[in-house]
Amino acid sequence: MELYEQLHRSIESLDIKVEIDLEKGRYPLIDSIENIGDLAGKASEILRSIGVETSEGEIVESLRKKGEDELGSLASYLLRRIVFRGIRERVRDLGWSYGICPVCGLIPIAAISKKIPHGFFAQSKLELRCLCGFSWIYDAFRCPSCDNRARDRFEVIMINSLKIQRCLSCSHMVAIVDEAPSMSGDLVHVVASYSMARLFGEEGGGDR
Ligand SMILES: [Zn+2]
Ligand SMILES: [Zn+2]
Repeated sequence: MELYEQLHRSIESLDIKVEIDLEKGRYPLIDSIENIGDLAGKASEILRSIGVETSEGEIVESLRKKGEDELGSLASYLLRRIVFRGIRERVRDLGWSYGICPVCGLIPIAAISKKIPHGFFAQSKLELRCLCGFSWIYDAFRCPSCDNRARDRFEVIMINSLKIQRCLSCSHMVAIVDEAPSMSGDLVHVVASYSMARLFGEEGGGDR
C-alpha cells in the first residue's frame, strides 16, 4: 500500500506531455501515443528511484504481456498511470459506455457502487475504475468483459465489505466497494486485486 502511494506521488509530480491525436478516435488511446518511449522513460526513472532497473523497451513491452510477473505488472501499471495522468483533462467528458478502458485497453476488475438519482428513485450503478485511473459509469449487472446482462448469470462473493461479482458466462470478476469517502478512488483497485489474490491465491501459484 505505501509503495502505491509513493508511486502515485511520484506520478503526480511529473511533468507529462502525451503526444496523441484524439480526433482520430482510435481506442484504446495508449496504442496511438507517439511519444510512448518518453513516457516509458519516466516510468523507468520512477522504478529506478525505488531500486528497480528496467529499460524503456521492457516497460513498453510489459503492456502487451498477459499473466506477467510482479515486475512486469508494476511496470505496466506505472506506464498506464502516467499515460492517464497526461491525458486525463482531455478524456474527462468522453462519455464512454463500453466495458473496455478507452485509455489503456484493460477490462476493469474494480468498481465503486453508486446511487444515481433517477426521477423519484435512485438507481444502483457501478463506477468502473480502471488500473490507469480512468473511471466511468456502468450498469450494475453487466459484465464488462462479455456483456452478459442476465442477473442470474452472476455469482456474488462477500469478503468483509468487499463484494466480488463474478460473471458465470466468462468468469470475469469485478470487486465492488460501497462509495466511501475514506477510500481514495485510486486505491480501490489495489484493495480489489489484493483481495482477489487472497481469495484465489492458490490458483495463481503465489509465493507471497
Ligand atoms: Zn485504463
Ligand atoms: Zn462475462
